[in-house]
Formats: sequence, structure tokens, C-alpha cells
Amino acid sequence: MSRTVSPIEPSETMYTLQSGFVNAGFIFFSLAILATLIFGRFVCGWGCHILALQDFCGWLLKKMGLHPKPFRSRLLVYVPLAAALYMFVWPVAYRLFTKLGPEPIIPRFTNHLVTTNFWATFPSVAVAIPFLFICGFVTVYFLGQKGFCTYACPYGGFFGLADKFSPGKIRVTPACNQCGHCTATCTSNVLVHAEVKQYGMVVDPGCMKCMDCVSVCPNDALYFGLGKPSLLAPKSNVIKRHYSLTWPEEIVAVLVFLGSFLAVRGVYALVPFLMALGCAAVTTFLTLKTWRLLRARELSFYRFNLKSSGKIHKAGYAFAAFACAWIGLNVHSGWVRYHEFFGNIAFNKVHLADELALAQLDPTRWLSPEDRENIVQGKEHYLAASRTGLFVNSEALPKLAWFQYLLGDAAQSVQTLHTAAAHQKDQNKALSLYYRGAILNRLGRYEEALTALDEALAERDDLILARQEKGESLWLLGRKGEAVSIWTDAVRRNPRLALANNELAGAALASGNREEADEYQQQADKFTPNNPLYHWVLARRLQDLGMSELAEKHFEQAGQAGSGTGTPHEG
Ligand code: SF4
Ligand code: SF4
Repeated sequence: MSRTVSPIEPSETMYTLQSGFVNAGFIFFSLAILATLIFGRFVCGWGCHILALQDFCGWLLKKMGLHPKPFRSRLLVYVPLAAALYMFVWPVAYRLFTKLGPEPIIPRFTNHLVTTNFWATFPSVAVAIPFLFICGFVTVYFLGQKGFCTYACPYGGFFGLADKFSPGKIRVTPACNQCGHCTATCTSNVLVHAEVKQYGMVVDPGCMKCMDCVSVCPNDALYFGLGKPSLLAPKSNVIKRHYSLTWPEEIVAVLVFLGSFLAVRGVYALVPFLMALGCAAVTTFLTLKTWRLLRARELSFYRFNLKSSGKIHKAGYAFAAFACAWIGLNVHSGWVRYHEFFGNIAFNKVHLADELALAQLDPTRWLSPEDRENIVQGKEHYLAASRTGLFVNSEALPKLAWFQYLLGDAAQSVQTLHTAAAHQKDQNKALSLYYRGAILNRLGRYEEALTALDEALAERDDLILARQEKGESLWLLGRKGEAVSIWTDAVRRNPRLALANNELAGAALASGNREEADEYQQQADKFTPNNPLYHWVLARRLQDLGMSELAEKHFEQAGQAGSGTGTPHEG
């Protein structure tokens, strides 16, 4: 039926908070948190696909004789909570702090439980594969079996917090003789035997209620039961934990994590938030381990002896080579991201309306010296990113093309838009092709324009501007009947199109049908804003089509509407 339930995926909650879309992911996540408040953090252990992947990887490594060792940091364990706040609380807080307009802080809720585009919010397969590899396998290999859960997963951040309030806990009977089997079995790095001795229950929010410890206890001393939440557990005699890092290393770890995250997140418009967190956690581990490889006299990793008596072994060099390649890739991503970021900032500062810029070739006349300077810099940033980048950024390319067009290099702009469209899909592809078609029309390359606009409409049939522009290509190619029919189709879909109505009026005048022309003009006038620039845009477009009588009318209206306000003059 082309419809299904929207993804049952916690990240969908962001759309609820940002846009008021009540979807299946939001309902699932809300129920999961409520259930966690009662039964503790069990959703991770019993329902998470990434955890299943990590368990699978851990199982594979053990088959190979490698037992993932947990990386223990005091500060990085707060990353999941910080990420959760950023994902779910920050958008609301941001709206609260920047509230300028009349929109409510909590958006109006609308029903999005059913979708016709199930995959719309998922990354592409090309991104999903490295995502699962990094977040499932690489994190387990370097950070331990729950590496991603411990240092990256934002949902875990909320589940861990809710777990502190929950009465549902792994609890102990007096039958425990402190043999330690439970701790050895736990893949969430919980000190089970010590916690049950100290508190009579497991208080670590990393416990996912997987029941492995319960099933392995030789004395049947463990069980899942309701009682006092861990928040009420006494704080005295806190269990001594062993951490992988010294305090100075913890500080460095936070800085490296942050730097790596900012470098990788969104680079090439490809790396999603969770993947960037996973990458940053691995980069942090590799950086600190490589530092130790240089400083320590003895160092091992799994069963590999990296360094002994101050001498680095072959395994040590192999580790260092991998770490350097990984960290180097991070630094390179940071360089590309830096240029993409400043390119985007420059793009967001451009406020020239598309209609005005596209009214005639070479829109540089509309740019102030500051605009020009900003665009030149933005273009340089995008060019630097694309020259040095390893992948094409399909979001940055159309912006680069726009900069090229605004600076008067229309021929290069259409070339860039061609490359962009080749790497895009759906709406974005249709838009790149539309702009390419529009600029080709201004360049007088009507056949190529027609091809681009047909491709745009094949991608998005409802892109009405492409329809209007296609009519212009056809008219200029002398296929006037087809042009009229496509403009007629455009105004049938949207009767408020001032330009298409004017074009139909011009076509009627050209065939001597003044009555029909008057009707279209009246319709156009109803929806033409009394703005000198808008009249000037209409005049320019009609003049290009040889509809000079109508063009003159709008040039005059541009002069009248803009008298004393710097009305543009035909250049
Ligand atoms: S495995 Fe059972 S007996 Fe051994 S320490 Fe854990 S709870 Fe106690
Ligand atoms: S083994 Fe026990 S302590 Fe560890 S996550 Fe599973 S239930 Fe929690």
C-alpha cells in the first residue's frame, strides 16, 4: 500500500521536538524511558541492534582468541548524556533562547505515525556500512565490548540516567561467596561482585539487565527484583575503580575527543552524529595509546607485546602505523570540515533573492563590496574543501556553483551543478538540475537547458519553477506551442504564478489574441507584488523572450513603484 509505520527508532524523537511530528520513534522512546524508570536499563540489553552487533563482534573476537578489554575513563563516560542533551534538549532550549517570532516553543503536534517514505531519515547504504563497522566492530576492538554504549550512545545517556531512579535492579541474596564469576562474565564492565557486596544490588547505570551474571552465578545468589533505587544507595565507601587514564590524560582525552568529533561530524555531508561520536572515541583511545607507546617502557595490547624494555616491537610499529593512519584521516577530515564550515557561513550570509540573481546573466551589479568579498572567500573555502577532499560533498557543490554564478562565472557554475546533480538524489538533485537549466537559459544554451529541466522534472514532477523555466527554453527554441502548453500546465497547478501568467499573456499577444492576453495579465497583476525589483525581474525575463510590450509595461511599473527608492535601471 506504499505506507507503513514510521521508523521505531529513538532518533526520530528529534523531529517530534523540533517540528511536532508525533511518530512511532517518539512513542517508542517515551515508553522505553518510562519502562526504564520502573525496570531499570533493560531496553539496551534486550532491544538494541547496535548492542547485538557489538555482542556479535565480541563473540567473533573471542573465537579468534582475543578478549576485548574495557577502556575505562572517568570523564568520557559523560559523553552519552551530553550527546543526549544536545540531541533532545538543546533544540528546545535554543528555540526558547532565540524565540523572536510568534511560533510556540513547543511546536503544534501532528500525526506522523504512518509514513510513505520509510527511509527518508536513514543514511544511505554507503554510509550505513562504515557506520555499523565503526560503531559495531572498531569500538569493540579498541574500547571493549560495550565501547559504543559507554562512550557514544546518546540514548544510553538517558537510559542510564533513568536507571538511577528505577526500583528494578540485579540484587543479591546471602548465598554470595564473592567468587567473582559474575564480574568476569559481565560485558558491561560492571564490578558486580563488589557492588552487590557493598550495596546489595548492582548500582552501575551501565548494567543492561542482560541477566548473564544471574545465569552464571554458581550459588544462584543473584536475581532481578524491585526495591530501593540506586540513587538512595549510601555514598560512603565508594568502590575503588581502576581507570585506564591518569587525570592529565583524562583532560587530554576530552580535548582529543572534542577535536575529533568536530572534525568528523558532517564532513562531506556524510558522517552522521552517532558515527562521529564512535569515531571520536576510537581516535581518543588511539591517540593516548600511541602516546604511551612512545613514553612507556612496557606496553601491550591484547596478546600483542607492543613494547618491552623500552624497545618497540613489530606489533608496536604496526599499531603505530594504524593509529597514525586513523589519526591522520581525522586531521584531514578536520581540514576539509574547516573549509566546509566557513564556506557554509559565507553562504548563509548571502541574502540576494534567487529571482533577482537569475533575472539576467552576471548578477554582480547587485552585490555590495562586502557581499563580493564574502562570496569570494566562501568560494575559496569550498574550492579548498573539494580540491583536498576524499569524497564529493553533494551539499556544498550547489552552494559553490551559486557562488560561481554570483561572481559572474556562469559557465563554470553549470559545470559544477552538473557534478552536484550526479551525486544527489530526489529533491536536491531536482533543484540542482533546475538551477542548471535556468542558468543555461541565461547563457543562451537552450537545448542543454531543456535537457536539464526535463531531468529535474523527471526527479520532481511538482517542481513548478522548472516547468516555468522549461517553457522559456521551448519558446526560445521556437517551439512556441509546446511552451504555451507547459506554461498553461504550470498556472493550472498554481494560478498565482505571476511570471507564467505574464508569459502566457505575452504568447497570446504574439498570436494577436489581445482578449486572452488581457485575462492573463489581470490574473498576473493580482499576484504581482508592488515591488520595483519584482517588476524589474518580470520585465527582464519577458524581454529575453521577445515579449517587449509587456516588458516595457513592467519596466515602467518598476520605475513608478520604486521612484525615489533607487529603482534599478536596465543595464
Ligand atoms: S557469581 Fe554469584 S557468588 Fe560469585 S560473586 Fe557473583 S553473585 Fe557472588
Ligand atoms: S551481566 Fe549482570 S551486571 Fe552485567 S549488564 Fe548483565 S545484568 Fe547487568
